Amino acid sequence: MSENPEYSFVIPAYNEEANIKTLYERIVSLMQNISENWEMIFVNDGSTDNTISVFKELTEKDKRIKYINLSRNFGHQAALSAGLKFAKGNAVISMDCDLQDPPEIVARMIKKWKKGNHIVYARRKNFRKDNFLKRLGSKIYYRLMGKFTRIEIPRNVGDFRLIDRKVLKEINTMPEHSRYLRGMVAWTGFKHDFVDYERPDRQKGESNYTLGKLARLGMDGVFNFSMLPLRIGFILGLISIISGFGLLLYQIWDVFINGVYYHLYKWLVVILFIFMGFMFMLLWIIGEYIGKIYDDVRQRPLYVIDETKNINPQES
Ligand code: UDP
Ligand code: MG
Repeated sequence: MSENPEYSFVIPAYNEEANIKTLYERIVSLMQNISENWEMIFVNDGSTDNTISVFKELTEKDKRIKYINLSRNFGHQAALSAGLKFAKGNAVISMDCDLQDPPEIVARMIKKWKKGNHIVYARRKNFRKDNFLKRLGSKIYYRLMGKFTRIEIPRNVGDFRLIDRKVLKEINTMPEHSRYLRGMVAWTGFKHDFVDYERPDRQKGESNYTLGKLARLGMDGVFNFSMLPLRIGFILGLISIISGFGLLLYQIWDVFINGVYYHLYKWLVVILFIFMGFMFMLLWIIGEYIGKIYDDVRQRPLYVIDETKNINPQES
């Protein structure tokens, strides 16, 4: 048996004292039929309740339990990233601490992983429970994301998923600071599959994703994976210049052919359109450069290798 565990569970927790033990027990009983060779990494994201003492208690009882205690609240994506950095398993499962991601689904995820999928997403089926606005919002959001970005970010999936060690390595080498993990995982492009499930309500405690945090996460998704917002200047500029020149030609034609008199302000409006257009264009050009700088500072790998033949990808 290798020293490294076969499976890692990575679980960020913010004020989850009431849920941890149940989650632990459910994972333990699930894994009894699968493998004993696993680890569970909890990340305490600056909880203000007794989350950390529950972790301490568990780690003393069970050596497969590990925890990382962050110095303050850094947010779900950062906490999850911290856990992923230390996960040693060949398959790494990330899930929430609040029992909204039922451990029993993991058995199905592991089956799909064993069939050769490097990423297995848990996909939510029941959106009925969410309110209308949240449903509409998520529908529009995913539609826009599909249009804006070149990579396909799967719909109706959160951060409940299993990734192969291969994928984990790529994620851990991405040093970008604003992290949208589901996008980053999809970006690697490895073979993936889905497991559908009904998402239960949160067991205890409150959702920490306020509308504000959710909006922030959504914006990270757009801005981290799309250069389109930077290109809006081009579209606005084009519209402005074309309409400006169109109006100008029309007015000139009217003056010379029909002998109509145009007030000075009408000429000014036309000139304004044209100049605004050039300004927008300039903003777009600056945007393109910023986009290139952004791409470079983010330092994502240029490509991801899935497999090689007669070449050692480590050598280079
Ligand atoms: N979480 C975290 N840091 C935060 C907010 C949340 O680590 O600042 C954890 C939380 O404990 C849970 C997971 O992230 O395990 C998902 O959070 P939550 O249940 O609040 O989100 P929702 O299910 O409402 O989307
Ligand atoms: Mg939740």
